[in-house]
Amino acid sequence: MHLKSTRRLAIPAALLIILFAALVNGCAAAGQPDAQASPSAGISIVPTEPVWTFPLSKDIMADAESFLTLANADNRLSDKDKPDDLVNITVRKSKDSAIQLRRPVSAALKEMFAAADADGVKLYAHSGYRSYHTQDVMHYNRVKDIGYDDKVVQQAGASDHQTGMGIDIISASWIGSRLTARFAETKEGQWIAAHCAEYGFIIRYPEGKEDITKIIFEPWHLRYVGVEAARYITDNALTLEEFWDQWNGYQDGSWAPDGERDTQSVDAVSGTPTVIVEDVLEIVDIF
Ligand SMILES: [Zn+2]
Repeated sequence: MHLKSTRRLAIPAALLIILFAALVNGCAAAGQPDAQASPSAGISIVPTEPVWTFPLSKDIMADAESFLTLANADNRLSDKDKPDDLVNITVRKSKDSAIQLRRPVSAALKEMFAAADADGVKLYAHSGYRSYHTQDVMHYNRVKDIGYDDKVVQQAGASDHQTGMGIDIISASWIGSRLTARFAETKEGQWIAAHCAEYGFIIRYPEGKEDITKIIFEPWHLRYVGVEAARYITDNALTLEEFWDQWNGYQDGSWAPDGERDTQSVDAVSGTPTVIVEDVLEIVDIF
């Protein structure tokens, strides 16, 4: 009797313990997410990079030295600066001699010429990569011819053509003629101005920016910078000089893309501008 009654009591007690244990586990499990989401659980602060607000993507700017190379009188390239991916271009040319450009630029040019052809616009490539040495000889000849440096021909290292991304494009009627700003009024000049950015090109020496580029308006001189940069530069009517001014300003905190900063500050750098003609002498067959 005594043993029996003990056994009867022991079974419900064991059940109670199991039920209680299950209840406690259940509550604990259900409570876990709440405990994690609670602010009092502790917030780990992970250091983050500053928000990227520059108008061009980070990837583009990480490679800025490659496709956005600035060559001018204040940023001269050296005689060692020669692109290692130069190729002979395959598009229609204004002369028989080979014209070289960097490989990606040549590919973009081919696309642009095909699009122009489709629109009934016949473009001719006229002058591409120019070495430091070629520019040096051009400058030397100019000084020799007139007896002093009239600053009409770029000094070696200052030409956009040395980047392997500068290209002069003309139409049939301008072959053999001296290039002038009137090219902008032609069908070909207007097509280039309207469409070149779609293929990654900008008009390197635009009208009205002579005081910044120090070069006359050259509607035939295109410069490859990549599609994203070309669209930004064109849409905002910038020069490559002004673009670099923005980028340098962004990096040191003096420029932000909110329109409040003075993007024209580069104007104030120099006094009387010396406007020169980059392509006045097309002496390309110099060698
Ligand atoms: Zn040119």
